[in-house]
Amino acid sequence: MPEQTNIKVIVRVRPYNQRETEQNQRCIIKVMDGSSLLFDPDEEDDEFFFQGAKQQYRDISKRTNKKLSMEFDRVYDTDRTNEDLFMECTAPLVDAVLDGYNCSVFVYGATGAGKTYTMLGSENSPGLTFLTMRDLFEKIQSQQDIRKFDVGVSYLEVYNEQVMNLLTKSGPLKLREDSNGVVVSGLVLQPIYSADELLHMLRLGNSNRTQHPTDSNAESSRSHAIFQVHIRITDHNTGAKRSVKLSMIDLAGSERAASTKGLGMRFKEGASINKSLLALGNCINKLADGLKHIPYRDSNLTRILKDSLGGNCRTLMVANVSMSSLTYEDTYNTLKYASRAKKI
Ligand code: ADP
Ligand code: MG
Repeated sequence: MPEQTNIKVIVRVRPYNQRETEQNQRCIIKVMDGSSLLFDPDEEDDEFFFQGAKQQYRDISKRTNKKLSMEFDRVYDTDRTNEDLFMECTAPLVDAVLDGYNCSVFVYGATGAGKTYTMLGSENSPGLTFLTMRDLFEKIQSQQDIRKFDVGVSYLEVYNEQVMNLLTKSGPLKLREDSNGVVVSGLVLQPIYSADELLHMLRLGNSNRTQHPTDSNAESSRSHAIFQVHIRITDHNTGAKRSVKLSMIDLAGSERAASTKGLGMRFKEGASINKSLLALGNCINKLADGLKHIPYRDSNLTRILKDSLGGNCRTLMVANVSMSSLTYEDTYNTLKYASRAKKI
């Protein structure tokens, strides 16, 4: 029997924003069904898509249509909600965590593609972190007569390869390796007794991010935010203990460093974002390929997440894209990254 992969890759397409609606552009993603899409479809498909509204202008520098048909574990079209993603993708991870598996959820994509919307959501539509944490506490509550749960939380930011504690606004913190794996020096977990406390920590950490996470300007999202819930589970009968982690990671924007105008600080930011994203991609590809040596050491992001990737861990990668031709390159690169992660 082929070994089942523990990495799920899903694509989420966001609706057009105002700029995209106003400008002349075309749709470069056609969701075919729940698990496949067509990237850069034919004009005919476009016409069909726009119900006959012919596009007057097409950027011929974008060459002939690629018409790439791609498969993922799931593809979420613009009408799907955070609640849908939660029910189908992260609620099962909560069960896995309580069964003793470390789990991680990554949102990947260019700035503006919908990562933070997916993770944090909006006023009316809470994101995956909120929905998943609420579910976690409900499930913990329902099991308390058989097992004891000690919950702690940490919220770290990796910015320019420096590790900051978002809950205490301190750092940079050093990483060191010991027999249990990678340890973030000086990191004290905040004990948590309710979902509300946990969500309070999430909000506190968000307010301490280098750029506020919902800030929509293009300069934002150059940091990786790693929200981790650490749970020690003690069986009342046997006294057996085990520790598990659930990690939710809002990755930095994946747009290339080359597109970063200007040099100096910003160039450095771009370069190190790519270093961590590249390292993460390499690790995930190697895991998906079933290789033994995984280059966790190549970046601080992958070092911190070493025990949450591969092995018995369950990983969900959400690739966020826009379907507008205005973001053609970003979307193409994101889909390539995502399909490499899916390759087995
Ligand atoms: P990122 O974090 O990838 O830079 P954001 O999550 O901030 O991108 O999304 C950019 C903008 O698009 C925000 O205004 C956000 O509210 C909106 N948006 C993103 N995804 C969706 C979606 N699925 N439905 C509605 N609005 C969305
Ligand atoms: Mg963001």
